[in-house]
Amino acid sequence: MVIPIFTYYTFITEWVKSSKNRNLIMSVLWGISILFCMSFPVDFGENARLELRIIPLLLGTLYGGVWPGIFLSALIILYRLYFGISVGFYNTVFVLLFSLPVILFFQKMFASSKKDRRVKIAVGLAFYYCLIGLTIFGILRGFSIEYLKVQIIHLIFAMVVTWFFTILTETIREIRQMRLEMENSEKLRVISELTSVFAHEIRNPMQVTRGFLQLLNEPDLPSKKKEYIQLSIEELDRANEIINDFLTFGKPTINHNERINVGSQLHRVVNIIQSYSLNYNVEIKTDFFDDCWIYANPQKLNQSLINILKNAIESMPNGGMVWITCTATDDGNIKISIKDQGIGMTKEQIARLGSPFYSLKESGTGLGMMVSFQIVRSFKGKILVNSELDRGTEFIILLPRVTYE
Ligand code: ADP
Ligand code: MG
Repeated sequence: MVIPIFTYYTFITEWVKSSKNRNLIMSVLWGISILFCMSFPVDFGENARLELRIIPLLLGTLYGGVWPGIFLSALIILYRLYFGISVGFYNTVFVLLFSLPVILFFQKMFASSKKDRRVKIAVGLAFYYCLIGLTIFGILRGFSIEYLKVQIIHLIFAMVVTWFFTILTETIREIRQMRLEMENSEKLRVISELTSVFAHEIRNPMQVTRGFLQLLNEPDLPSKKKEYIQLSIEELDRANEIINDFLTFGKPTINHNERINVGSQLHRVVNIIQSYSLNYNVEIKTDFFDDCWIYANPQKLNQSLINILKNAIESMPNGGMVWITCTATDDGNIKISIKDQGIGMTKEQIARLGSPFYSLKESGTGLGMMVSFQIVRSFKGKILVNSELDRGTEFIILLPRVTYE
């Protein structure tokens, strides 16, 4: 039972990139674990052959989902069939019939829970499974004190082992997560240092060029040439602006924070982005709750909102609608939602969102989301992403609310 857990975190997460294949390999490993469990039970005379097949079944299903669950259950039944059809076989089938739907029911909740709740769910399910097993076996064979004693020890043992293995899995997972985050922040640090150095080095010659261009621009020059000079200056200014954008995440600039009304800020952002959205045939609908105040730097907030909005618009090459809403939540946050009807993202794509240079667009930079995440984090907020492929995406930005005195 330990081998699948350690194999998963040492080899499979490193070598196998697609989650489908990971699931497949894990199902096989848990399957092997089940076969071992069932091959080496502990015999308690007449009363029971006890083993812990529930644990690979439970962990495999809770972490894998519906199909691994069905696969593992089928494996249990087939392997039990190999020992011959007896009361024990019917017992196995009935127990699975009663417990698998319950496990699958709780799997969704498990998948979206945090560590503590996961442990509770897993232990609860182990308890339920053993209880069902105990009851059905009792009904088929008859209850006795001796039988109950053995079964209750089995039940407690199964629960303790489930508890231990779930904690083990979750702890390894946390450590891994932490390591990934550290690698990510290291990457960010290197990039931001590089960009700020580059940006400064490029900016200086550009300033010099701009100065000389202005000197060339004498009044008696033919209008064609004047136009060229003007164009060159404008292009230089544009390049300068791009560099400025880069620099915003380069240095840890001091946050000049102030009290901001999110609604009016959002109106401003929508105005800025309007012409861009028209190019894409995208309509923007807004609904802002008036009394939304946060403490933040308005320019940075603008930038992060514009980045997210631009992505929303770009996700709909054939036009569509973007909804922007802003409300105050009960738990003291301001919730800004930006929802599109675009191409959407898979789970893997969502997971990679915000890592530097991750872009699926031809001329994308893969920096927009990274900057947005960083800005929102610097305001002590967070960004949640719900997305469905070909349906659309919703970005939810949560920021701590302040009251306006
Ligand atoms: P860029 O826009 O330059 O590609 P971003 O960091 O802004 O870089 O976005 C990274 C990637 O995330 C995009 O290339 C896109 O694949 C995906 N993405 C972001 N927002 C959305 C969205 N609203 N709908 C679909 N995909 C999105
Ligand atoms: Mg973008």
